[in-house]
Amino acid sequence: MALDQTWYTEQWAGQGSAISLKIAKKVHDEQSQYQRIEIYETETFGTLMTLDGLVMVTDRDNFVYHEMMSHPALFTHPAPKRVLIIGGGDCGTLREVLKHSTVEQADQVELDERVTRVAEQFFPELCEKNADPRARLHFTDGIQWVADAKPDSYDVIIVDSTDPVGPAAGLFSETFYMNCFRALRPRGIVVGQSESPLFHPDLIVSMHRAMRAAGFADTATLQFHQVTYPSGWWSCTMACKAGSLATIREDAATGKDFPTRYYNAALHTAARALPEFLVQALR
Ligand code: SAM
Repeated sequence: MALDQTWYTEQWAGQGSAISLKIAKKVHDEQSQYQRIEIYETETFGTLMTLDGLVMVTDRDNFVYHEMMSHPALFTHPAPKRVLIIGGGDCGTLREVLKHSTVEQADQVELDERVTRVAEQFFPELCEKNADPRARLHFTDGIQWVADAKPDSYDVIIVDSTDPVGPAAGLFSETFYMNCFRALRPRGIVVGQSESPLFHPDLIVSMHRAMRAAGFADTATLQFHQVTYPSGWWSCTMACKAGSLATIREDAATGKDFPTRYYNAALHTAARALPEFLVQALR
């Protein structure tokens, strides 16, 4: 049954399933040097950004992803001061990172400047920290940035990238994690979006393997609900250079001095509890 044109539909490659969002109108459409960038006004999810036809951000549910890509890692690290965000062009992750008063500098390295310029126009609330003096926006390849980074440059590296295909594929490799290991300070943490536990458990397993092969002492996957991403079930996977990811700054997380809508200390701990099929796969 062909849906009429008032629906945006993302078919999930190879999964025989899809998501559709009722559209009021398309308000932007351009081909950047790297990807097709489209913006829609939807009937119930607010503004929608797609890159090459895939959902990146909606007003209604982006808070889950941006909070879970930033606060677990930042409340696990003992004292995060210098943060690197790779990708993150919609700037929602940058906004969450800069809610932490301990953070002194946040480098955001997004390949495609057009993503940020379009986000500034259509998602101004996600970009509200872009002028923060601690924010440094760079538009270049994050893989090369980390390869070139001096040792002991960052406390936390957040990989807020598109799926592991095309320019983002290298952001999930052992070589990349080895470069992250060198660029991170002694208690450093790297965290990457790690796709759907239901659709992509193999990717999650391969990320753990690559992170450990790169020398990281501990790895962990956190699961969370992400309605508009493939399967509606998403994850991030993190690794630390030393110590354990199980010990978080509980008091700081519980007594955080900024608002969130999804993240809290209890959910942080709970998100580490994984479904049995994934526990078995990670053994
Ligand atoms: N939340 C989205 C997700 O999970 O798919 C990601 C959001 S953000 C818009 C993804 C960004 O990664 C895109 O803007 C894309 O340009 C950027 N990106 C892809 N490969 C990159 C690379 N090698 N270096 C820097 N940015 C990259």
